[in-house]
Amino acid sequence: MTSRSVTVRVPAKVNVQLAVGGPRPDGFHDLANVFLAVGLYDEVTVTPADGLRITVEGRDADQVPADASNLAARAALALAARREGVTPDVHIHIVKDIPVAGGMAGGSADAAAALLACDALWGTGAGREEMLEICAELGSDVPFSLVGGAALGRGRGELLTALPVGGAFHWVFAVADGGLSTPAVYRECDRLRGDAAVPEPEPAPALLDALRTGDPVALAASLANDLQAAAVSLRPSLAATLAAGTDAGALAGLVSGSGPTCAFLAKDAESARSVAAALSASGTCRAVRVTSGPAEGATVVRQS
Ligand code: ATP
Repeated sequence: MTSRSVTVRVPAKVNVQLAVGGPRPDGFHDLANVFLAVGLYDEVTVTPADGLRITVEGRDADQVPADASNLAARAALALAARREGVTPDVHIHIVKDIPVAGGMAGGSADAAAALLACDALWGTGAGREEMLEICAELGSDVPFSLVGGAALGRGRGELLTALPVGGAFHWVFAVADGGLSTPAVYRECDRLRGDAAVPEPEPAPALLDALRTGDPVALAASLANDLQAAAVSLRPSLAATLAAGTDAGALAGLVSGSGPTCAFLAKDAESARSVAAALSASGTCRAVRVTSGPAEGATVVRQS
């Protein structure tokens, strides 16, 4: 029986380590990108329609394109293009809870979710390998949104190796007003580095150990983001946000991916709640979210 509607839930991510190499000839940068999926989710529902249609509701929905430039639409088009006789006549409805343009891979998440949902709706039977291949074509962070958990991304972030995680880590996210453009942050990173030699990006062994043992104190000591200086350079107010989170008792804080969301690692769930309350009162961010990771990757949650 073919489905009439499929809903997929997909998590946000934080980069616990983002090591950025020098610019490659193709304009991308080689990365050692340690992703952790966290429990902030978008939901993507697909239903058959006369043509391709996108609707978006939820947090900051007005900032998300509702046309073919939406990454979820591009995912549906990419899957249909690989199957003779499959036309992308589908209504994609996105319920956003992941901050938009916040460095938490919200668009990538929606692309992975739409791909999984359309595959189930159309019965295209794409295997894991083909799904990951399409994800990598859509964007560097899309494969991780599909698999979730924790993973090391090499290349431009799309070549994934799953990482073991020994327990739940508790996070507080300080969401900023407005977004930051990921390409602009990479350009600023290159500009700040100037002619300085850039080492090959490598994952830090201490960080991988901390994930494996589930030790938040050790993980806090190893958090690192090579894009942080560039994000703060473009958005100097982030320095005050980072200070407010650590002053409030977070073990450590860092800019999430290309920002401007700041991520704070807390000792436990109770500490995360008190860090969140202090950050809310600090006036250094627009909104505060509390959650934990690792979270499961894109998952079909409803099908009718
Ligand atoms: P990353 O962490 O992967 O760099 P991000 O979290 O900083 O990404 P996104 O939320 O993915 O940023 O949004 C970046 C831009 O992509 C938005 O400004 C928006 O114009 C566009 N976009 C396209 N499709 C989507 C989508 N489904 N959801 C959110 N933004 C989208």
